[in-house]
Amino acid sequence: MLETINRRSFLQMGAATGAAAIVPRWMNAQAAPLPDRVLQGRDLALKTPITTTKLYDNVYLLQGFGGNMALQTGPEGNILIDSSFSTSVPKVREAIAAVSHDAQGALINTHWHYDHTDGNEGLHAAGFTIYAHRNTRERMSTAQTISFFHLVMPASPSGALPSITFDDSLHVWHNGDSLDLVHFDPAHTDTDIYIHFHNANVLHVGDIWFNGMYPFIDEATGGVIGGMIHASEKALAVANNDTKIIPGHGPLGSKADFQKFHDMLSSVRDKVAALKASGASEQETIAKKPIADFDAAWGKGMLGGDAFTGIVYRTL
Ligand SMILES: [Zn+2]
Ligand SMILES: [Zn+2]
Repeated sequence: MLETINRRSFLQMGAATGAAAIVPRWMNAQAAPLPDRVLQGRDLALKTPITTTKLYDNVYLLQGFGGNMALQTGPEGNILIDSSFSTSVPKVREAIAAVSHDAQGALINTHWHYDHTDGNEGLHAAGFTIYAHRNTRERMSTAQTISFFHLVMPASPSGALPSITFDDSLHVWHNGDSLDLVHFDPAHTDTDIYIHFHNANVLHVGDIWFNGMYPFIDEATGGVIGGMIHASEKALAVANNDTKIIPGHGPLGSKADFQKFHDMLSSVRDKVAALKASGASEQETIAKKPIADFDAAWGKGMLGGDAFTGIVYRTL
């Protein structure tokens, strides 16, 4: 573990100072370069503070530059959901220490994407045992292409991989609460799960929900628009009007907020599907601006209307 961290730190330092030529050839052979987008994310995460919002007696929302995190504290050990970027790890540990003196317990990944798992290795080294859907471990174990961003994510180091995985669901009784970890059929990726804290009435749905914006759907690792709609319905069914729902990105929301997102997805799907069924090509469909009415409300985040129309078209 320590050796792995040192080797990666050394390589990053070498690349940053233009000194890569002094790195022995066997090291170059073992460490695939990280895409620029990931390095930029690490840089922004380093500069972004972590904010902590209390959601229940012992449950908190932690937000920085990467995916939204949740924390449950207690004498049986802290549970953290998602690990953001590696550069956030010291600040995440400080945020945990500010509200808990308990030992580190479990880290649960909502899905495989690096903005939710890049901090895994550092948090594992700090004492967390990593849980996730089986597909998350499988995808992190080998290089993955995210075609939309033209990037290839190298395999994660062994210390970053979830060591406990499940297929359909896992039920955990911890710190006086019961948690359901439930897999969605392919939606944002084929690795997505939700985590529901029953007593706290907190639901983390990962990147099934981008609150207030068109979602990214990772078509290269199993994501499909129909699955996003079904996953939203599955998660909405376990929420009530008091449930605090944590999206993968964007602010904390309510069931009503999540329902609005679901309804937008459903309308967008129908509009794009109608054009595709009429024989329009992807470019023709985008040119017709079928979801322009939604752009003012939803197109100001990660994706604009044209990009989202293309993803929906391709994954119908
Ligand atoms: Zn994300
Ligand atoms: Zn994601």
